[in-house]
Amino acid sequence: MKTLIKILSLLLFPLLTISAQGLKFYGEFKPGSIVIGSGTNVTEAWLGSDQLQVDGSGTFVFGFDRDASGTHSLKVVYSNGKEEIKKIKLPKREYQIQKLKIADKYVTPPKEELDRIEIESQKMKEARSKVGKVDTALFRSGFIKPAEGRISGLFGSQRILNGVPKNPHNGIDIAADEGDPVYAATDGFVRIAGSNFYYNGNFVLVDHGQGLTSVYLHMSKLNVKTGDFVKKGDKIGEVGSTGRSTSAHLHWGVQWYGKRIDPMSLLGIKF
Ligand SMILES: [Zn+2]
Repeated sequence: MKTLIKILSLLLFPLLTISAQGLKFYGEFKPGSIVIGSGTNVTEAWLGSDQLQVDGSGTFVFGFDRDASGTHSLKVVYSNGKEEIKKIKLPKREYQIQKLKIADKYVTPPKEELDRIEIESQKMKEARSKVGKVDTALFRSGFIKPAEGRISGLFGSQRILNGVPKNPHNGIDIAADEGDPVYAATDGFVRIAGSNFYYNGNFVLVDHGQGLTSVYLHMSKLNVKTGDFVKKGDKIGEVGSTGRSTSAHLHWGVQWYGKRIDPMSLLGIKF
């Protein structure tokens, strides 16, 4: 009977698994995905030799990079001193190849823009240096798609811009009209609301706690500023085509610390 319930629950809730100690995992164990763990008596969690942040509700998050592979070990320690180890064997994941034609200045930036690009990159580094200082899982409010529209670019695609191989696509693109609202996917602190960056255009980086971040690029207008706290569903800006963009769309990117995460992996998670 127990097995039957387990099979049924896997069929009905493929993004929720429950361990022997009642610890719940939300999300998929695969490359480019986050997994959220939650159990009332969890005091510590370790992914390999890395200690994860666990908040007062016993919630923690971890993620696997686009190109992660192999077997990983997750250790959870409970308040009664008991330990539980879960072996995670990652499946292989294939990505598309996407060929795009864009203005040459975005494939090889002109010399006179290099200083500006460097300054912007420093500003981004400084904003990201604050990530990880919030132990609380602010994402417990759940996730929403930040704009309405069809997905016009998938996560992880190998990009070939004007025939030149470039970095993989680190997010998804949502095709929408200029001026359409962009919402915060979940709660968090705005670490940077940047205007008119060379690649990102007008953009926002939100810190959701425990190293989880999301970025919203190429907007026409921003409705928040650096330091603001936003709730899931708050309007943070409007869709546009600023920076390295060929038409109005929202680029939505997610990271867990430096790991590249598929934003779609957040949307299936229901608490
Ligand atoms: Zn994009």
